[in-house]
Amino acid sequence: MFRARHLLGIEPLAPAEITTLLDLAETYVELNRRTVKRSDALAGMTQINLFFENSTRTQSSFELAGKRLGADVMNMDVAHSSVKKGETLIDTALTLNAMHPDLLVVRHPQSGAVDLLAQKVNCAVLNAGDGRHEHPTQALLDALTIRRAKGRLHRLTVAICGDIAHSRVARSNMLLLGKMEARLRLVGPATLMPSGARELGVEVYEDMREGLKGADVVMMLRLQKERMDGGFIPSEREYYHRWGLDAEKLALAAPDAIVMHPGPMNRGVEIDGTIADDINHSVIRDQVEMGVAVRMAAMDLLARNLRAERGRAASGVMA
Ligand code: ASP
Repeated sequence: MFRARHLLGIEPLAPAEITTLLDLAETYVELNRRTVKRSDALAGMTQINLFFENSTRTQSSFELAGKRLGADVMNMDVAHSSVKKGETLIDTALTLNAMHPDLLVVRHPQSGAVDLLAQKVNCAVLNAGDGRHEHPTQALLDALTIRRAKGRLHRLTVAICGDIAHSRVARSNMLLLGKMEARLRLVGPATLMPSGARELGVEVYEDMREGLKGADVVMMLRLQKERMDGGFIPSEREYYHRWGLDAEKLALAAPDAIVMHPGPMNRGVEIDGTIADDINHSVIRDQVEMGVAVRMAAMDLLARNLRAERGRAASGVMA
């Protein structure tokens, strides 16, 4: 069961839709580990990646996902496009729409920009991160990573740590893990907590040692300096001392706790490099692997819905 026409965020998804997507992604994990990584789920379809913000993992992951599913994939180089000449987001969307893409993957620095764009085009739109709002495929790949490591999502204690206020990753993860009945803790300085955090039905900790006690999953976040317009932290040194994940703080979590980070990592700011590379706890490389599989699943499901919708429209015209 997956009804969505676009993947704009986790918010509109039902738990059953999340499970459907994760289950399908499992089959793509399998495919991606073979020598011949080919499916024709998107054969003949056109995918355009439109990134208005820098990206390493997400853009390459979407590109690879589309290619493995047999789509024609085009990366729009926004830095050299008419966008730099002042073309509006909507004009760009309408121009691209006229080229008949089937899937449009968009990242934009402004929250809500991708939703707006989705209203103007007639293909399926995937949000690859919009401002501080949502980054749904990141939350889905995180969920798949957790589910594979822990066997479930419900009743796990997940500590999301660091710059929560500016993080779309935190927002999408809170929505997803809440829907899947995990126990959520937000850990970080008061200046980096979203307003009304305590009313969200989650536990909030300023003291990282308290917040990590017995946690099954420790999810670290990057300090989003590009989204800060003032002094949110005393200094990076002080931040690392109080909220950076090191061996001593991690020892307070469950003995089999997993450590996650969406990347890019600031080693020595929010996480100690040794912890990030510790194969006994860190699943950061698994997250990257799951990213490709989850994006393949998301595009496959949206393509099926798109075909069905077009099929209905065509039979309606003929009737
Ligand atoms: N790559 C993630 C994002 O685009 C996390 C980060 O940038 O810190 O939101």
